[in-house]
Order: sequence, then C-alpha cells, then structure tokens
Amino acid sequence: STIKALSVTGIEVVYHHSIQALRGLSIDVPSGAIVALLGSNGAGKTTTLKAASGILPLENGRVVSGDIAFFGESILNLAPHDLPRRGLAHVREGRHVFDELTVEENLIAATNALQGRPSVKPDFDMVYSYFPRLKERRKQIAGYLSGGEQQMLAISRALIGQPRLIVLDEPSLGLAPMVVADIFRIIQRINREHGVAILLVEQNARQALKIADYGYIMENGRIVIDGTSDFLENDPDVRRFYFGSA
Ligand code: ATP
Repeated sequence: STIKALSVTGIEVVYHHSIQALRGLSIDVPSGAIVALLGSNGAGKTTTLKAASGILPLENGRVVSGDIAFFGESILNLAPHDLPRRGLAHVREGRHVFDELTVEENLIAATNALQGRPSVKPDFDMVYSYFPRLKERRKQIAGYLSGGEQQMLAISRALIGQPRLIVLDEPSLGLAPMVVADIFRIIQRINREHGVAILLVEQNARQALKIADYGYIMENGRIVIDGTSDFLENDPDVRRFYFGSA
C-alpha cells in the first residue's frame, strides 16, 4: 500500500460547540502526490485544512470525532506550532505575509518558527530559484508587492521549511488568470522536483485538476465524489456542476 502523507478519517468538526462544519470527512493524500479538494463556498474545504494544520482551536473549532494522521502518526492533539516543525506547512487563504517586513525578513521569520526542526537548513537560493521575482524584490516591503507576488511569498514561507506536505488554500483567489497559471506551474514543479505532497483547495476545479493526480469534491461537510483527475475532468456531472463552464 502507498505511504500516506495525510490521512483524514471520518472527522466531524464543530465550531462554537454547535455549528457542524464537517460531517464524517475522509480524504487521503499519498506521499508525493497532488490532491485537489474542490467544492462550492461553505462546503468545508478551509475547515479541512485548518483541522489538518491544528489551528481550529484558534477559531473556537474542534475535531469532535475521527482522526488525522501525518505519515502514519496521529496529529490531532498537537499544538499548531508543532506541525510546521514536523514538515506540514499551511498556506492560508488570503496571502498571509507580514506586510511591514521585507521579502527576506518574511522568509527569515518563517524559518524562526521552525526551531526544533534542526534537520532543516533554510535554503534561500532554492526558494528564490522558483520565484526569481522575489529575489529581485527581497529588500522590498511585502505590503507593496502585487497580489501575485504576495501569494508567491506566502508559498515561499512554507517552502523554506522544506515541508513534506503543503496544504494550500485557494492560491488563485483574486489573481489574474496569467498569474494563476504561473503559480500553478510553480506548484507542480515544487511537487515534482522535491516530492512534496500537496493538498490544494480550489474553487477553480478545472485548473486545479490540470495539476492534480486525484480530486475530492465536497458538499456540506462531506465528500460527494472522488476520483483521478482524468475521471473527474471527463465526468459529465462534475463538468456540469463544478466547472465554471462545461
Ligand atoms: P470558502 O470557499 O467560502 O472558504 P469552504 O468550503 O472553505 O468555503 P469553510 O470556510 O470551511 O468552507 O466553512 C464550512 C462551514 O463552516 C460554513 O458553514 C461556515 O459558515 C462554517 N464556519 C467556517 N468558519 C467558521 C467559524 N470560525 N465559526 C463558525 N462557523 C464557521
């Protein structure tokens, strides 16, 4: 059987003791694969990523049943800061960067969060090789970068820790189509060249499936359809309901 970078088994998530966001959700991300998690607004995609990266308690959310394993070990009871140290990086929706720091300072801050993972030597050249534009702008304040560059910086902050899995929330949000295409190509290269597994949350199903090996479609806190990208791209119902235009 294949090694699983992430294995989510039957999780139920509740916010504020009462609002149920996930209803017995199960997904697998094989080691080294790109898996797309798709579905409409409010389906529970972001909640799934927050459950995996341990940050639900910060929003009054809780996994009330089921399990989440990272390379075979349960991570349900870890503190949020333990996950990046183990190699699970979360790129949150909305380009979380420090606006008032330079590009380089943002990367340094990300490496500081990794203390306790001594096996990792921050490799700035490796990160800049994927994002040459960030290298050119490394002394600039992040708040003045374009939206696309900020998204690239958010991905770079994950990559500098040499993760084994990156969970990526809507990297295309609010970006021009050409910039999105660029970012998706880079995500695919990072996956192929470093073997980093990727769990990609997207509203743009068509584009996500182009780079994913496998996809899951969520509705209302659970999976309704899953399959290889080829299967999903050719399924008439998937095309009708989840592709912008069929
Ligand atoms: P989007 O694309 O809009 O982010 P999503 O598929 O990622 O949608 P979630 O953001 O995970 O969906 O939301 C799933 C459900 O959980 C929704 O009904 C939402 O209202 C609820 N929810 C999300 N975050 C919270 C929160 N902090 N407190 C209470 N309810 C929440």
